[in-house]
Amino acid sequence: MKTWIPDSRNFAYLNWKQVDALPRESTLLVLPTAAIEQHGHHLPLATDTLINNLLLGRALEKLPPELPIYALPPVHYGKSNEHIGFPGTLSVSASTFMAVLRDLGASISTAGFKKLVLYNTHGGNTSLIDVMARDLRAEFGLRTFALHGSGGIPFEGLSAQERAYGFHAGEVETSFLLAAVPDLVDRSAYTVNYIADVEKPQLLRPENAPAVFAWLTRDIAESGVLGDPRPSSAQKGTRWLEEAATHVAAALEVMSRYPDSSAK
Ligand SMILES: [Zn+2]
Repeated sequence: MKTWIPDSRNFAYLNWKQVDALPRESTLLVLPTAAIEQHGHHLPLATDTLINNLLLGRALEKLPPELPIYALPPVHYGKSNEHIGFPGTLSVSASTFMAVLRDLGASISTAGFKKLVLYNTHGGNTSLIDVMARDLRAEFGLRTFALHGSGGIPFEGLSAQERAYGFHAGEVETSFLLAAVPDLVDRSAYTVNYIADVEKPQLLRPENAPAVFAWLTRDIAESGVLGDPRPSSAQKGTRWLEEAATHVAAALEVMSRYPDSSAK
């Protein structure tokens, strides 16, 4: 898999003596979690994993070099059963996913490290990440953090409709890939699909509402796209990438210094 992680921040490029020399109390290890799953007719299976690596890599470049922060190799496979039925989707169950995170947490804790951030870029993993962050804190005493997606940037320029229902393979994901790996985007194969209309809010919605229905992509999106990739561009992707990397870097720096309240 392609990587944008700087060599000097890549945990797996160290040897064990170098790991042994890291400051155990203050080193922050970042565990990326993503997915290998269908992303419509126009984006590759690895989209969520590529975006994770891209945002994290650019964020790590922005950090002060003296902060001991390292990226672990990603957990490529996620809980993607919403995309089962599309060839290429490789999903693990919730219990498998949580067991992998639990076992990695055990190894990290056994080595004496104290700080771990779960950096997730696949929506299907989100609830499991929140569960595991607390469980790793409780079971191993790890100071565990959860960080999701683009670090909360506003995505200026996105329509209200895309902002609300552009979940998957839409304008944001397509723009990120156009900026970084344009050869992996098939611009002739865009399809558009929204599962709800932001102008007609209903009590029962697919996401972000008190009353939701559990959806499977194959029930609601023939092409696998949930959103509109047509307004995507490399320019937008480059701008959002820079903003997201800045936000992710700021979050990592706060986590690295936590709980030192005198830090900025
Ligand atoms: Zn995705």
